[in-house]
Amino acid sequence: MLPPASETAPARDVRPAVAARPELAQALLDRGLGERRAYGMLVELLEVAPKRLAGSPGYEAAARWAERTMQDIGLANVRMEPVMAPHWERGDPERASARLADGSALELSACALGGSPAGSVTAPAVELNGLAALAELEAAGGSLQGRIVFLNQRMNPAARSSFQAYGGAAGQRTRGPALAAKLGAVGVVIRSLSSADDDVPHTGMTRFEDAGPKIPALALGVQSAERLSAALAAGKVESVTLETHCRELADREQWNVVGEIAGSKWPEEVVVLGAHLDAWETGDGAHDDGAGCTHVLEAARLLLACGVAPLRTVRVVLFANEENGLAGGRGYAEAHAGEAHFVLIESDSGGGTPRGLGLSVDEHVLERLRPAGAPLAAIAAERVSGGGGGADIGPMAERAGAPEGSLSVDDTRYFDLHHSANDVLESVHPRQLELGAVVLAYWAAVLADLGPGELSYN
Ligand SMILES: [Zn+2]
Repeated sequence: MLPPASETAPARDVRPAVAARPELAQALLDRGLGERRAYGMLVELLEVAPKRLAGSPGYEAAARWAERTMQDIGLANVRMEPVMAPHWERGDPERASARLADGSALELSACALGGSPAGSVTAPAVELNGLAALAELEAAGGSLQGRIVFLNQRMNPAARSSFQAYGGAAGQRTRGPALAAKLGAVGVVIRSLSSADDDVPHTGMTRFEDAGPKIPALALGVQSAERLSAALAAGKVESVTLETHCRELADREQWNVVGEIAGSKWPEEVVVLGAHLDAWETGDGAHDDGAGCTHVLEAARLLLACGVAPLRTVRVVLFANEENGLAGGRGYAEAHAGEAHFVLIESDSGGGTPRGLGLSVDEHVLERLRPAGAPLAAIAAERVSGGGGGADIGPMAERAGAPEGSLSVDDTRYFDLHHSANDVLESVHPRQLELGAVVLAYWAAVLADLGPGELSYN
């Protein structure tokens, strides 16, 4: 017989709600919106280093800019922490086209995926609906010998968030090319992971196995994917031709750029505000992740400007190499393994209108935190939701057993731009960007001042 529930349930520590700090919210909003420094920083970063993929001269310029900016803001212990990162280059512009039965050519808007090798192939094409279809083919013992594979899964428009839609289709980019190569394919094109209906291709990392075959892998603009699909369905395509000029060079030393506001009571405990400084070079990385970089820098500046003295250390980390290797996140976790991390928050969802904070902690902890968000209702950003985190902070959060979270922003248009030539300054709105920095600053102060164990109690 089961004992009564009261004997099995662990005793729950009932603590009071975390207090709202309306004066702090007012001060941050007044100063942030009045001074609009986040946008100014973004303009600077994109002028200094519009192209800043790991290993490029632009990344070094970005890192030097970040170091200078942290010093100007007044952060303490500013430094560049070395990590070894991969170095991949796109090389000359890539090309993709289809030869049709009537002798004409169908030009396709395309860009190489990060990690693609150089190559020039012409072969008959076969269309499959994403990674799942490829995996089914493998399970059935099928072959793609000598074929160019076209993975045409679209992001599910009915998904409840853009990130869900992206995650649902991303496998065709990250793992599709390696699996297709294993099954004998000589090249891969994927439908861009894009929520736009335009013809701008979106790049992103694809991973080949070190010992496995590597084949040219490109993303097609959505309209090009639709055209190719229609031509294939009509039996009009004789062959597809792909041409890439990418290079994989030796790993290079890159840097995470770090600065701090020392904690006034528990300086050895760290609250990380993170973003990634590298970006794909198809665009200028204005949203991904220039916005995140300026969110965390401006959040720290606002805290200092408003005279906030957090109890724990608030550490700003601009990570290297998120896009094609995660060397920054892994290197940080290794270099700081022995330090007490209270919580890590990342901004890597673009510079859209902030909604609130996402935090990977138990629901009853979220419940206690929600009242603290009340002052942000003035800008409709009071939401405190479960989940949240980031690629860069993940390795440290895991190693430290610390909770991770993220700034939640409206992501409706994020994947229209993400990793594409349209991710440029003009797509970022100064007020939206600044509001994000204010929300991040507010939560950084609240989290840094929580009592011991307040994010992890049962
Ligand atoms: Zn990103």
